[in-house]
Amino acid sequence: MKNNDFDVIIIGAGVIGFSIAFRLKRIRPALNIAVLGDPMNSLMASRAAAGMLAPFGECKRADKFFGFCRESLEKYPEFIEELVAVSGVPVFFSMQGSLMPSAFYGDSWEERKRFFLEEKIPHKVWQPEKVRAKVPYLSEQCGEVLWVGEGQVNNRQLHDSLVAAAGKLGVTIVEENVTGFIKDKSAIECAVADSGNIKGKKFVLASGSWSQQLAETLKVSMPLKPIKGQMCRLQVEDNRLDYTVHGLLTYIAPWRGGHGFVIGSTMEDRGFDASVEETVIQELIARAADILPCLRDAPLIESWTGLRPAAEDLMPVMGKSVRYDNLFYSTGHYRNGILQTPNQADYLASILLETLQEEIAEFSPSRYQL
Ligand SMILES: Cc1cc2nc3c(=O)[nH]c(=O)nc-3n(C[C@H](O)[C@H](O)[C@H](O)COP(=O)(O)OP(=O)(O)OC[C@H]3O[C@@H](n4cnc5c(N)ncnc54)[C@H](O)[C@@H]3O)c2cc1C
Repeated sequence: MKNNDFDVIIIGAGVIGFSIAFRLKRIRPALNIAVLGDPMNSLMASRAAAGMLAPFGECKRADKFFGFCRESLEKYPEFIEELVAVSGVPVFFSMQGSLMPSAFYGDSWEERKRFFLEEKIPHKVWQPEKVRAKVPYLSEQCGEVLWVGEGQVNNRQLHDSLVAAAGKLGVTIVEENVTGFIKDKSAIECAVADSGNIKGKKFVLASGSWSQQLAETLKVSMPLKPIKGQMCRLQVEDNRLDYTVHGLLTYIAPWRGGHGFVIGSTMEDRGFDASVEETVIQELIARAADILPCLRDAPLIESWTGLRPAAEDLMPVMGKSVRYDNLFYSTGHYRNGILQTPNQADYLASILLETLQEEIAEFSPSRYQL
């Protein structure tokens, strides 16, 4: 490597790591930044996700996390515009909205509607006649449906675009895993990779489900583990569905542009298990077909497994380390890391550049003495 002394070294080549590099370079072009990580990691969450931008379907309480996710959704249109202008790599992004069919929400239905009203969440209640007019391919079983002002992105294109933008902005991309660090008691000097030691002033640990393994090499213990999700993608004509749909233990995410519909997903606490089970995939398709019957006979394009990085309290771990002066974290984004991408990039950049007034306590690495 020609220049081996970086201002910031980011460990993790997913959307989280690359978006931090992107934001830093946009604010301070002169910064010398490296992103380290294996871009072909087949369990990487960033390429495995469905790309739903769904703070309202996912959150049930108006806490800090909800606020952070909501803000991130608001930032998305501008973020995508800026990213694509830099990278030249297009990203499918839509604010068409999501649908929540009442048939799958049972007793919690009225509670959901109340929450949406209280929090002034953009939504509309569609009676069955309206549903048939707006979404004729949806099953009649769905009943009353909530339309919610959420978004959808093709997360693989998002990742491609971030990698391309980082390259264009002069970020050094080192496609290698980090195996350890050279450090003293209070600071890190180098990340150790196959090609040698890579020296940096600041380090960001953004390694998704593998963050605990890296934390161990730093002699800290991060209560974070992978939660496996099995998924598949079916070939369906774009015009069958314009919206993302949240159902019972299932969702349908249209990627459009001829890329079909993503059907998800399981939530399995099975370590780094990479297997994809045919029976599980068939169950996912069957549940999704109860919502959109045309899925029953749609050709399967692919099925896969990905790992969600989940901290013990299911909150992201973002901010400055309390153990090492020059270490920062952005991990634990669990089920919503694609959604959080723009806001966490801004948040981490402001922490790294020391422009943030106050870190969010609920996300702070200090809660685990990291
Ligand atoms: C099945 C599934 C569906 C999902 N659906 C959605 C969704 O619809 N909407 C949403 O918002 N979120 C969704 N998510 C969550 C989202 O994908 C994640 O929260 C997000 O992608 C996390 O990004 P990341 O960059 O932190 O992790 P990852 O994408 O997992 O990237 C981690 C990176 O770290 C690298 N790495 C690991 N170890 C090392 C090492 N030792 N040295 C160097 N690099 C290392 C890996 O190679 C990889 O590049 C889903 C996740 C899954 C699995």
